[in-house]
Amino acid sequence: MTEVVSNVNCRNCGAPLELAPGEILITCEFCGTTFNQSSDKAFVLKHSIVPNSMSKDDVKALVKRWMRGDTKPPNLAKASKFHDIKLTYLPFFVIDVKAKTEFKGGMTRTGGWIPREGVMDKEYFWKVLGRRATRFPTREYDIPISTKVNFDMSKVPQGSEFHNTELDESEAVSVARQEIESHHRFLLEQDVDSVDRVDTTFDVDEIEFLHAPVWEVRYEFKGKGYNVLVDGGSKAIIKGEVPPPDTSMKGFFGNIKRAMTGD
Ligand SMILES: [Zn+2]
Repeated sequence: MTEVVSNVNCRNCGAPLELAPGEILITCEFCGTTFNQSSDKAFVLKHSIVPNSMSKDDVKALVKRWMRGDTKPPNLAKASKFHDIKLTYLPFFVIDVKAKTEFKGGMTRTGGWIPREGVMDKEYFWKVLGRRATRFPTREYDIPISTKVNFDMSKVPQGSEFHNTELDESEAVSVARQEIESHHRFLLEQDVDSVDRVDTTFDVDEIEFLHAPVWEVRYEFKGKGYNVLVDGGSKAIIKGEVPPPDTSMKGFFGNIKRAMTGD
């Protein structure tokens, strides 16, 4: 798909910038300033970046190690071919928010009705990815926030992809509210079978905006493609697709042979 690109000038240094459809908060690739291209209001959030600490070879070695781990096909590391290994800087909002859910209902699982009423009072650093269509396991990604530094374009290596956000901060907050609400509902349902009333109030303390390095690895195994996501900051696997176990007879005998020869 060819993306229709439009042009805009950096509000700080005037440099011409290209932006893809849907992008709202634009970071200038020359001076590193971020501005909201659809609003005249100044962008005031603190912008940080998590430095990447891996080379392509480091990523390969890590994924190979992961391939040799438990619950993987035994020859995965040997028989896989790497296709694409690329570094992308993804934009996240980290929202420090207190969420208080008051609820009233009852537990019915024992056959009777035991009233349940109370307050769930929690504080989160809730992460929201600033992209709409990107499928990314945000909940499973533990952003290494302690290594972040002030945003600086020179921390983004040549050849990596840099993504602007398609959500502004107020949309990110409303995404966080919806997600926390359904998370609290899920927690409630462990204990309350029939919920009569549930009401969540939010108190947003701070919103941080940051770019984090994620390596996307594409590998091929037995003619099929799979993806692995690697955290370039903490050098951890975020999530990896594992081929299904080989249940054919050939695979079965192969497994026995390997078990006997230790190959
Ligand atoms: Zn600029």
